Amino acid sequence: MSRTTERDPVIVVGSGIAGSLLALEAAAHGPVVLVTEGALGEGSTQRAQGGMAAAIDEHDTIADHVADTLAAGAGLCDEAAVRLICEDGPRQVAALLARGVDFDRADGRLRLAREGAHSAARVVHAGGDATGAHIVAALSAALRADPRIDLAEGERALEVLVRDGRAVGLRTLGRDGRGHSRSARAVVLATGGMGHLYSRTTNPPGATADGPALAGRAGAALADLELVQFHPTALAVGESPLALVSEAVRGEGGVLRDAAGRRFMPDEHPMAELGPRDVVARAIARHAAALGADVTIDLRHLDPGEVHARFPTVAALCAAHGLDLARDLIPVTPAAHYGVGGALTDMAGRTTLPGLYAVGECAATGAHGANRLASNGLLEAAVLATAAARALGESDAKWPMTSLPNVSPVAPPEPAGDGGAVRRAVQETMWRGVGVERDATGLAEASRALEALPEGTDPATDNLLMIGRLTAAAAAARTESRGAHFRADFPDPDPAQARRIAWVGGLPVALPPAPARRDRALALEAA
Ligand SMILES: Cc1cc2nc3c(=O)[nH]c(=O)nc-3n(C[C@H](O)[C@H](O)[C@H](O)COP(=O)(O)OP(=O)(O)OC[C@H]3O[C@@H](n4cnc5c(N)ncnc54)[C@H](O)[C@@H]3O)c2cc1C
Repeated sequence: MSRTTERDPVIVVGSGIAGSLLALEAAAHGPVVLVTEGALGEGSTQRAQGGMAAAIDEHDTIADHVADTLAAGAGLCDEAAVRLICEDGPRQVAALLARGVDFDRADGRLRLAREGAHSAARVVHAGGDATGAHIVAALSAALRADPRIDLAEGERALEVLVRDGRAVGLRTLGRDGRGHSRSARAVVLATGGMGHLYSRTTNPPGATADGPALAGRAGAALADLELVQFHPTALAVGESPLALVSEAVRGEGGVLRDAAGRRFMPDEHPMAELGPRDVVARAIARHAAALGADVTIDLRHLDPGEVHARFPTVAALCAAHGLDLARDLIPVTPAAHYGVGGALTDMAGRTTLPGLYAVGECAATGAHGANRLASNGLLEAAVLATAAARALGESDAKWPMTSLPNVSPVAPPEPAGDGGAVRRAVQETMWRGVGVERDATGLAEASRALEALPEGTDPATDNLLMIGRLTAAAAAARTESRGAHFRADFPDPDPAQARRIAWVGGLPVALPPAPARRDRALALEAA
């Protein structure tokens, strides 16, 4: 690929909140091509229910939002990144309103929900529990109406093209089986999550860790891969993506029972079913494994009419599988929900490879620390997309220099066909050995099993295999329990390990504690 020019487009990969917002904002500075695998707007954003956090209530403060985010992050947050997302929250809500997102209102004011681990009501939502669908509808309409943005729908990104240590283009595969290579002034990965590393996930089918895999092969650093959030209660019927049975169902009195009918949460946590998400997820996984059958939620002691009126969405999801939310025991399971890790970036989305950006869930900024605070996912994606769009309009001179060695790009394996069996093996192995609860023996077994699986089936499976292997290695490297990462053999946090782990060319690199980092610079040191 020849040297790029200022007239070359910015190529954005993905059309969730991060990619869509970035494309819309970057179009002010020059041509944009948006490549997206399925239909426009497909992705996790579309499925987001709760909403987006922002300190806009008169009784709330930015400082409180920062404090709650830091507390959830369990010592791994980059405080500057946390401040930035919390300070920018109110402006992002206003910007989305201006783009036509009809957040719910009461008496002319935005309605704010209060969610677990937030000390104030600060979550804006739309259409009740259809927040993501409303955001996607508004942004997709704006994308289609913008003549400066070239939409390449049904195209899958396969490889970031690198020349002389810089990202200069993207290779893709169209739905019609035709390959394309485009030059780019910059490439922005906004490919979402990695939930399909696991056999049980709430993520849409496209969440196959493509962004981190493409960035890693291009030579960029990855980070925080061991930090996978599991939602405690997904509906344990049917294929992934599994539907969410929201926390509110437990909040209204739903109790968890093991396969023998015993209510177990009062023995696990003083708050029983309303304990922290990770505690509930681990207890459910343990009790399901012990009896070899899924745990259930029981609402049979409540008034059926009220249950159906309060939870119409969950009731409809259950009904689709022949279950009555009010009268049946509803099988639930933890499920991979949010990947904290991804391509290591600063707060303008710059990866460690010049010309390559990552925004949204596929980026690892340090804003979530070891555990994401509920509803900070959409917020971080919006803040990062806006900041990256601004950075794209600036000169390359601002690219942060790192002390990391340059890593040569590696081409992805040649696809040889259907990777269905390999993919299922990756997902089962990850679920068993690198899941809700980990230990050295299980992690070593998982690593061996993943190493033995063949590469070169289909591109998504190759990406899952690559990131699965690194995730298993990252989980083995963190010999402590912190945030979303729980080691049964090291159940406590170790203050000496309060550092993020990055991966460069497949090798671990410890990042210095966040406060030591200079403004914006990705100053890294070899472990
Ligand atoms: C069920 C569910 C509920 C959630 N609820 C909330 C909530 O209430 N609040 C909150 O803050 N967060 C929530 N989250 C998390 C949040 O929705 C996501 O983190 C966020 O939407 C991610 O946005 P994104 O733009 O990074 O990725 P996505 O919205 O997932 O978009 C990724 C895009 O990349 C495309 N893509 C992927 N790979 C390729 C490729 N190789 N080539 C081309 N295109 C590709 C996909 O097709 C998609 O368009 C929820 C997540 C789930 C799954």
